[in-house]
Amino acid sequence: MNSFSEIYENINKCDKCHLHGERLVPYYYRGSENASIVFIGEALGAEEQKQGLPFVGRSGKLLQEILDKIGLTEDDYFITNLVKCRPPDNRNPFYDEIVICSPYLLNELKLIDPKLIVTLGKVPGDWYSNGKEYEINTYVPAKRWLPLRHPAYLLRKRSEIESFVRSLRTTIGELNIL
Ligand code: URA
Repeated sequence: MNSFSEIYENINKCDKCHLHGERLVPYYYRGSENASIVFIGEALGAEEQKQGLPFVGRSGKLLQEILDKIGLTEDDYFITNLVKCRPPDNRNPFYDEIVICSPYLLNELKLIDPKLIVTLGKVPGDWYSNGKEYEINTYVPAKRWLPLRHPAYLLRKRSEIESFVRSLRTTIGELNIL
């Protein structure tokens, strides 16, 4: 797939796993296709499922506050999820769901070719670090990877927000992104 419209057309008609039954509205990414940083979440939550956009619920609002505080604008980032539908009852996506869905993300990464990939939380972090198993190494050129906490965790443990911001700021500085 050579364009985002093609990728998302395929995502929105995808029925490769049973999670497609949870789709309420068409889904799309947030941010810019020319972004330097890609943020990868786990999967859609309830609000994301309703709006068809990643990180628009409570944890998304916190993430947005952090990005604004650091001085990142919509041109700088691309926000997406490992799994493009909502697992029922907010459970973690299953291994087979990740295997089926992650080629869409790999395609996004290939088109954007970002300077920095930030995984948010354990699920996308494990996916990225187990690269070989998911053919990440075949698709994604060697990139700087920053695994960070999920914003939902930061909502429960606000004292960790500062170290999240610090890590992100430092890496952005090292890569001359801003
Ligand atoms: N959590 C995620 O991992 N992704 C979202 O889009 C929203 C909440």
